[in-house]
Amino acid sequence: MEGYRETEMCSRCRGRCCSLQPGHCLPPDFGSAEAVKEALVSGRYTIVLLLDWNIMARVVRPHYKDPQRKVGCIFQQENGCELPWPARPYGCRMLRPRERDGEHCKPEGISIEEAARMWERSGYLPPIWSCLHQIPLNE
Ligand code: SF4
Ligand code: SF4
Repeated sequence: MEGYRETEMCSRCRGRCCSLQPGHCLPPDFGSAEAVKEALVSGRYTIVLLLDWNIMARVVRPHYKDPQRKVGCIFQQENGCELPWPARPYGCRMLRPRERDGEHCKPEGISIEEAARMWERSGYLPPIWSCLHQIPLNE
């Protein structure tokens, strides 16, 4: 499976990426509409809407650690991610850790925008219009 595992740099950084936003999943991370539904009902995953002039599409990813402030990832623990590496979202596996202090960690592979378009095409989500009424106008 492609991607990057934690490095010594990640241990020192203590998962700053995870304390900001969860990584995005791809439809194949679940494999069926039923699996997606179960994940959402469990409260451990959520649907995020990407909305601007270029895109209106949804993506599934782990829920926030702090849903009020919309930060963090529900799977982040004191000693790191509680999910085994192969079970982590695609976006988490494809974040290349920086090699030196002062550099940026680099997201690689399928971007969150591309992932959202894949999710809309997957048939795993309810029709987008059936969700729009749940989105407050100020978001
Ligand atoms: S990927 Fe980057 S931000 Fe995330 S834990 Fe590793 S070094 Fe820190
Ligand atoms: S699933 Fe794991 S690796 Fe991905 S953001 Fe959450 S804690 Fe970090």
